[in-house]
Amino acid sequence: MLITNARIANHNDDAHYDIRITNGKIESITPATHATDNDSYNAHGRIVAPQFVEAHIHLDYANTAGTPRDNQSGTLFEAIEIWRERKEQGLNNPKLIRANAIAAARSAVAHGVGTIRTHVDVTDPNLVAFYALQEVKEEIKDWCEIEIVAFPQNGIYAYPGGDKLVARALDEGADAIGGIPHLEPTREDGIASLDYLFDLSEKYGVPIDIHCDEIDDEHSRFTEVIAAQTSKRSMHGLATISHAVAMSYYSPGYLSRLLPKLAAAQVNFAVCPNENLHLQGRGFSSAVPRGVAPIKQLTEFGINVALCQDSISDPWYPLGNGDLLRILDTGLHVSHMLTPTYLDNCLEFITTNPARNLRLNNYGIAEGNPANLIVLDATSQRDALQHSAPVLLSIHNGKKIFERAAAPAQWDY
Ligand SMILES: [Zn+2]
Repeated sequence: MLITNARIANHNDDAHYDIRITNGKIESITPATHATDNDSYNAHGRIVAPQFVEAHIHLDYANTAGTPRDNQSGTLFEAIEIWRERKEQGLNNPKLIRANAIAAARSAVAHGVGTIRTHVDVTDPNLVAFYALQEVKEEIKDWCEIEIVAFPQNGIYAYPGGDKLVARALDEGADAIGGIPHLEPTREDGIASLDYLFDLSEKYGVPIDIHCDEIDDEHSRFTEVIAAQTSKRSMHGLATISHAVAMSYYSPGYLSRLLPKLAAAQVNFAVCPNENLHLQGRGFSSAVPRGVAPIKQLTEFGINVALCQDSISDPWYPLGNGDLLRILDTGLHVSHMLTPTYLDNCLEFITTNPARNLRLNNYGIAEGNPANLIVLDATSQRDALQHSAPVLLSIHNGKKIFERAAAPAQWDY
């Protein structure tokens, strides 16, 4: 297959290229010759980007909003309670989880995603969602790669036997390990939970990705514990801190001590701006903080930040369709990042940065890499963001997943 007359997203120039794909790989990238080929796709100067990477989502929760009931307060903790009720009422059957998760993955892929890291709740004695997602992973592997994080939604100590269930999911083939220290009964339990989860991460040789400090509380300070554990165990690059909501409440003094520790440990961040803007910052009577980790400060400190969806229509968040350009738009707005440097390179937050969270090898538009790429209806990264560019073509391991016609408005005036 040949894609002709394409701009390459991160080249930031006007040059047009022909990209030849053979045996699932990008064989060559050469200056456009304007030759025609029966099997070619003419990008007409639009940009080619690597397929987006969704580094933080919950496919097992997707498309469940409203059952057994709506989240009336809009808070994270009511959502967790609703999820507990849902499990207790036996509403989580494997068939339904599978169908909902595949629909969510399909929606994300339709918006240009090619790889997903999904957290899957393992605080369930039967690991129903976990086994269902393992089937989903196998079922959709031709058009989307899935990485499963064994995530103890209700805690490993707050939920009786949660510690054993996480270990069991790893025995059963989970790709990564999760945790939720701020939900454990005490701060000491939270610290102990991280010690235990890091032990498992080392024992099983899997990366660790923690739901960390997702609470409107400046005293929730588990990011520093993760930085310390990561450094102490020489696990640089293997740990991801998800959400880190409380960071947006930290005093400048504490933050200035914390940032170098995070940078030294080379922890990655997964920030979910849309969802945390919805869930956080409630119950304040004066100025309302909005509970999104400080994306700009982290980035300027050289810390890797991925921007992620988190939820598609579940008790936590009523919207979401897997469209990472929309998440990117919100993340840059809330962090005052609409400056030329960020705008012209904005796709990093949903491509190379999340690829780093997942430690993907050979990721990106380069000769010899797997041909996982999309054509966006845009001529630059900024253009793609500004116009919420639709994905016109998606290719996964050299195979066309879908094609969509560019649809300009037909004006009557
Ligand atoms: Zn999450």
